[in-house]
Amino acid sequence: MAIDIKGVLSPLSAIGTLFKHPNTLTYPETKREIPKGYRGFHINDLEACIGCANCQDVCMNEAIDMIHDDNPHNPKNTSGCIPRIDYGRCCWCSLCTDVCPPHSLKLDNECIYADADPDNFLFMPKNKKDIS
Ligand code: SF4
Ligand code: SF4
Repeated sequence: MAIDIKGVLSPLSAIGTLFKHPNTLTYPETKREIPKGYRGFHINDLEACIGCANCQDVCMNEAIDMIHDDNPHNPKNTSGCIPRIDYGRCCWCSLCTDVCPPHSLKLDNECIYADADPDNFLFMPKNKKDIS
């Protein structure tokens, strides 16, 4: 019976990878730079949001609920509500930001989040003034 020398030796070629630069990142020590304009989490300028619910109406994934704002930020917000995003449903299409009359709702670069509890994917967008 002939021995398949090539088949026997080919696994040894993996040793060569020990001396190559890795193609992976040692996250979280090393983080990939997020490109400018990347569609990440929503932010909302609550001092400008008028509670009109345009963002909720346009969302085809029904990812937005209007939630009562217990700490009113804008006297012109007559509904007293602000949007909450369900990141289990959102597809980051950004239609909600397109139809926001005061342009208060935007997508930020921040995009990394992990949790095993699905309820923790309901997010109130951070207030713009708290992150700038
Ligand atoms: S980005 Fe698109 S899917 Fe996500 S909440 Fe806005 S409209 Fe809905
Ligand atoms: S975020 Fe914009 S579209 Fe949504 S309720 Fe506020 S003002 Fe209206």
